[in-house]
Amino acid sequence: MTSEGTFRVLIVDLTARRGEVVRFGNRLESGGGSGLAAALYESYGLPEEAADHPQQPLIFAIGPLTGYFPLMSKVVCGFKSPYHDQYTESHAGGRLALAIRFAGYDAILLRGKAATPSCAVIGSRGLQVDDVHYLWGINSLMTGKLLRRIYPQHSGCRSILRIGPAGENGVTYACINVDTFRHFGRMGAGCVMGAKNVKAIAVHGDGDISLPGAKAYAQLFQEVHEKLTDTEMMRKYYDLGTAANLTVLNERSSLPWRNMQQTADPGVDGISGERFGDELLMRQTACAGCPVGCIHLGMLRERFADAHQFEYRQVSYDYEPIFAAGSMLGITVAGDVLSLLEEVERVGLDVMSTGVALAWATEALENGLVTEEQTRTPLAFGQVDGYRAAIRHLARAENDFYRLLGRGTLAAAREYGGEEFACVLGQEMAGYATGEVYFTAQSLGFRHSHLDTGGYTYDQLNQKQDVDEAIRFLVDDERGRCLLTSMVSCLFARGVYSSELLSSALASIGQEALAADVDGLAERVQRARWRLRFKTGFDPSTYDVPRRLRKITTWKGALDEAYLDKLRESYAREITALGKPG
Ligand code: SF4
Repeated sequence: MTSEGTFRVLIVDLTARRGEVVRFGNRLESGGGSGLAAALYESYGLPEEAADHPQQPLIFAIGPLTGYFPLMSKVVCGFKSPYHDQYTESHAGGRLALAIRFAGYDAILLRGKAATPSCAVIGSRGLQVDDVHYLWGINSLMTGKLLRRIYPQHSGCRSILRIGPAGENGVTYACINVDTFRHFGRMGAGCVMGAKNVKAIAVHGDGDISLPGAKAYAQLFQEVHEKLTDTEMMRKYYDLGTAANLTVLNERSSLPWRNMQQTADPGVDGISGERFGDELLMRQTACAGCPVGCIHLGMLRERFADAHQFEYRQVSYDYEPIFAAGSMLGITVAGDVLSLLEEVERVGLDVMSTGVALAWATEALENGLVTEEQTRTPLAFGQVDGYRAAIRHLARAENDFYRLLGRGTLAAAREYGGEEFACVLGQEMAGYATGEVYFTAQSLGFRHSHLDTGGYTYDQLNQKQDVDEAIRFLVDDERGRCLLTSMVSCLFARGVYSSELLSSALASIGQEALAADVDGLAERVQRARWRLRFKTGFDPSTYDVPRRLRKITTWKGALDEAYLDKLRESYAREITALGKPG
């Protein structure tokens, strides 16, 4: 095979503080993104070893369309998750995808462990692993500010990843902050970075790429750009953004409130997308290469402790963070939500897991399962100060209670009690109490993410109960998303990038062979990911839906447990078949 048929991957050996560029794999076989990350883990990963083994790889992969088409702006991070000790993926945007493309790599893989807290500085012509021990312990926002001064070069096409105290202290749902407003949020990529003694990664996109000269490429680019900007399809992401879902889901009795004790509450008015838009929105911004700009930045206004002056800061918000730091904790004031989101940002935690974990802790305290001595602060639904303090305790793993809570809500519930109200679906639930299909999808999904499939949409559009049809939808929808995340597209563009359009886009940049078999690629990637998940220990029978979620009532009425269990059985069979070796 010629080198054009392989991927160009930078392998960074953190222990030796050096790297090498290798030609790896087969583009036709793996495509890129999710497919490439899985192939790299297959070659470099240690499936039998724990997630914090120094030689476990931390992989960042882009796709063949990155840099060539709009919204091809995401990076797939592949790693063994410290949360469940199995292979997983997390996705993020920001400037990282373009920085990796312009630096000339298809993927960057970190292995080994740095001797001291370090920053890996990566460019097209070199790699340094710099000692930055003085940044250890510093919050993720301040770390970003300092790193921008330390590494001022190529600021327009440079991406800075960093972790906060949560990643340093082994919280299994610590995130990696990417360019301040985006994150590898779920399943603990930040914890893996911390275990490797990597405080930060700076990727300089200091090279260039040549665009195809053919007219067909320019024409197709124009068509795609128009679809993404001139039609209604993407407008919802720009206007109110995903925060618009708060009111919609509340009206459908599908918005988790107060640790899922309710699915609707009039308090939604205080934290709705409209409220954020009217009172707090400062501006929208975008990932590099995206003309949509769905990132909403709210204004957090806080008084200096000892003065009559105010400080103003920008905090990004979306539907999921507002659910986690808002309704799930009974917070009904938008400014209070922003204040919690900023605290989570500083310490470098995944916001969804944090909100759900603290909601469980609140109920555990109310029921006397844990004491205030253990929580170190009063926790009560709607009370922002206690939650702000608890976020800091959690990130610092300050005592046995927070150490255990930092291993996941279920880990804490198994020790202290309250498993029945631990809102965990593989990991802490996302904000969709839409019913049986979604609970099946998240509890057994590849990443336990609301983005694995459109299960929550299926619940909202389908009243009838048809197990076969629902499971076919989940399997097919996941396969389609595998194609998108192999390219690597923002999933908000899924309505635009059909497999036919992706095939045309690949052909227009000279990837005709890949273009000819995008459906085959999607299927191979779907199977490769499930094979890895099973190889690293996945057993669907160990994942359940807690009692609290089984007892909810939505706009459709009471959840049907028998239907839920049939769906879960059938989905478990399907994914087990997908994960079979060979
Ligand atoms: S739609 Fe939003 S998340 Fe997606 S690429 Fe654009 S700015 Fe980033």
